[in-house]
Amino acid sequence: MHVPLTIRDHLARAEVVYGDRVGLIDEPDQPAPPLPDLTYRRLGELARAQAARLDALGVPQGARVAIVSQNSARMLAGFYGVAGWGRIYVPVNFRLQVEEVQYIVDHSGATVLLVDEELDGPLASVQADHRFVLGRDDGELYLEGVEPEPWAPDETATATINYTSGTTARPKGVQLTHRNLWVNASVFGWQAGVNDRDTYLHTLPMFHCNGWGMPFAVSAMGVPQVVLRKVDGAEILRRVERHGVTLLCGAPAVVAMVLEAAQDWDGPIPGAGRTRMVVAGAPPPTATIEKVETVLGWEFIQIYGLTETSPLLTMNRGREEWDALSPQERAVRLGRAGVPALGVTLDLDPEGEVLARSNVVLEGYWEQPEASADALEGGWFHTGDGGTIDADGYLTISDRKKDVIISGGENVSSIEVEDRLFSHPAVAEVAVIGVPDEKWGETVKALVVLAAGTPPGTVDEAALIAWCREALAHYKCPTSVEFRDALDRTATGKLQKYKLRAPYWEGRAKMVN
Ligand code: AMP
Repeated sequence: MHVPLTIRDHLARAEVVYGDRVGLIDEPDQPAPPLPDLTYRRLGELARAQAARLDALGVPQGARVAIVSQNSARMLAGFYGVAGWGRIYVPVNFRLQVEEVQYIVDHSGATVLLVDEELDGPLASVQADHRFVLGRDDGELYLEGVEPEPWAPDETATATINYTSGTTARPKGVQLTHRNLWVNASVFGWQAGVNDRDTYLHTLPMFHCNGWGMPFAVSAMGVPQVVLRKVDGAEILRRVERHGVTLLCGAPAVVAMVLEAAQDWDGPIPGAGRTRMVVAGAPPPTATIEKVETVLGWEFIQIYGLTETSPLLTMNRGREEWDALSPQERAVRLGRAGVPALGVTLDLDPEGEVLARSNVVLEGYWEQPEASADALEGGWFHTGDGGTIDADGYLTISDRKKDVIISGGENVSSIEVEDRLFSHPAVAEVAVIGVPDEKWGETVKALVVLAAGTPPGTVDEAALIAWCREALAHYKCPTSVEFRDALDRTATGKLQKYKLRAPYWEGRAKMVN
C-alpha cells in the first residue's frame, strides 16, 4: 500500500491522540492579541478555518501564500492551514527590507500575503490579491466551522518555498515537498528523541527552513509548543523555567546568549539535567559546547544541514561510548558536525565539497531550473560547504566553497551586499567577505576601493554602512569597511576571495565560524 506522506499527518495524529492537550502557547508580548492556549483539537479547527477561508476566496490548491511574521501561534497554524490543504506556504524572513520582501512575493507569485501587525506599516507597499494583518484581520482570515474542500494528498507536491540567500544576488526559493518535510521530521524527531513528555520552545525563527521542520516533528508527538517572538538569553531561561521546556534549537549565537544570561541567573539553571539543545548554522566553539553541559546542565546536540535539505543531514549526539569521558573530551567529540542521519549518504568531491543524497533534498529552486540542475548535478546535492570525513564517519565542516557569510545563523550573500555597495557612486571596487566575530560567529566586512577623484574624507565607513542599511536587512550589512588601493585578482580578473579572507582567519583551524 502506498499512502502519500503529507504534513497534515502530523496534525491529524496530534488531534486524534492528544486532542485535549495544550499544543500551542502563544507569545504573550506581541502587537496582536495573543491567541489563548490552543489544544491540538483547537489547532486543527484553526487550520481548517484557514483552509476554508482560502477556499471561499477562490485561492486554488497550489497557490502561494506568503507570510512575513515573527514567530507566532498564527504563523505556526498556517503551516497546516495553508500547506495541509494543498497550497504552498512561503514563510519570509521578517528582518528583510521592503524591496527584498517585494521580490519574494513577486517571484513566488504569492496571491495571499499575511503580515505581522508591527510589519504592516513598513511593508505597506507590498500588496497581493488578498492581504491580511495577523490578529487584526482574524475574522477575515479564518472561516470557522466550515469544512475545507478536500485535497487529494500528494507527497510530491510542494509544501513550502523558503527563500534563502546563496551564491546569487537574489535569494532563491527552496521548494520542499511534503515528502521532504515528512522524512526530515520523522528522522530528526526520532534521532533527537522527541516524545510526548517533551515541551518545545520555538527559539528558531519559524521562517528559517520551517523552524528546521520541528513544528511537524513535535506536533505528531503531542508536544506542547511554546512560541518565542524575540530571542533573548534571559527570556529563554525564564520560559524554560515557566513551561518546563525540554527541547529547543538554535544557532551558536543563541547558545552564547543563554550562557551569558546564565551568569546573572539567581538559583539553579532551569532545565538542568532535563533539557536538550540542538545547535546548527555554524561550527560552535568547543568551549561553548562544554559550557552547555557544565554551566547549564543541558544536553548539547549538533546537527548540520541546509534549507535545501529540510535541513537534517548529520547529527552529533553524545553516544554511550562517551559517557565516561570528561565534559571537555566529550565537547571535542561533539564539535564535529556529526554522522549521516538515517537515509542520508554523504561524499566529498575532489575539492572537498560536501555532497549529499537523501529524501530530504529539495525538489528544486522555484522557477530556476538552471540553478536547480547545478545544485543537483550528477544525482548529488552540492552543499557548497567544504569538509572532511574522519575514519569513524564523522563530518567536520571546515570551509565554505560558496560565497556566503553566515552571521548569527542567517545566510548573507556576499554578492548581494557587493551589488548594493557598487550602486554607491564613490565605490569603484568592492569585495565582501566574512570575518570571525565573537558574538555572531561571522560578520560582514567590506573591502572597498574608492573611485578616482573622490574628494578625501567625503565617503567614510559610516556612510557606506548607512547606504547598505537603507536597502538591505540590517544583518546583511557590513559592520566594518576597509579602504584599499587595489584588490587581489586572478589573471582573469576574478576576485580572490580566499586570499582576501585568509589574513582575518590566521591561526584558526577552520575558515568558518
Ligand atoms: P541555511 O540554509 O540558512 O540553514 O544555512 C545552511 C548553511 O549553514 C550550511 O550550508 C553551512 O554552511 C552552515 N551550517 C549549518 N550547520 C552547520 C554546522 N553544524 N557546522 C558548520 N556549518 C553549518
